[in-house]
Amino acid sequence: MGLESWMGDGYIATKIEDVLNWCRKNSLYPSPMGISCCAIEMMAAAGPRFDIARFGSEVMRFTPRQCDVMIVAGTTTFKMAKVVRKIYDQMPEPKWVIAMGACTSSGGMYRTYSVVQGIDQFLPVDVYVAGCPPRPDNLLHALMLLQEKVQRGESKGMAPAFIGDFHGSRGSNSVSK
Ligand code: SF4
Repeated sequence: MGLESWMGDGYIATKIEDVLNWCRKNSLYPSPMGISCCAIEMMAAAGPRFDIARFGSEVMRFTPRQCDVMIVAGTTTFKMAKVVRKIYDQMPEPKWVIAMGACTSSGGMYRTYSVVQGIDQFLPVDVYVAGCPPRPDNLLHALMLLQEKVQRGESKGMAPAFIGDFHGSRGSNSVSK
């Protein structure tokens, strides 16, 4: 059955990177950064109806050192952004980021001085999820897109540690480490 019958007496030639990336993409441990209402949909994705375990990502870790992908779900204020960035920095490489929902991706309806207008101002985002709130299926779709990136060996987390405006041009609201 399975691989043995498919291969017969043949063999497979591949690269070690491809095997590692295949293992990685099927065991992405999320860091659930649930900041506000979108987090409820993220929790639903882990339940039996949507069953994120089908993608090997049911192991939500609350310590950054055991996580591969940060799922930021919710309205991110400048005050909170510093905390999110610090937790991201504590994750080992390679690492990835999913921005879940309108608020996380663009500030959403909150065009105010206190809300970051998109977490890509302080994090290297790999996949954005549209919606307010996005359905759990949307998050699963984002995870599948991310798996394709992982298989290709792409990670924006390898990029420079700081992106966006970190150095004070926004005065007291600028995000710093
Ligand atoms: S996108 Fe909508 S559901 Fe998600 S955090 Fe913003 S207001 Fe809440």
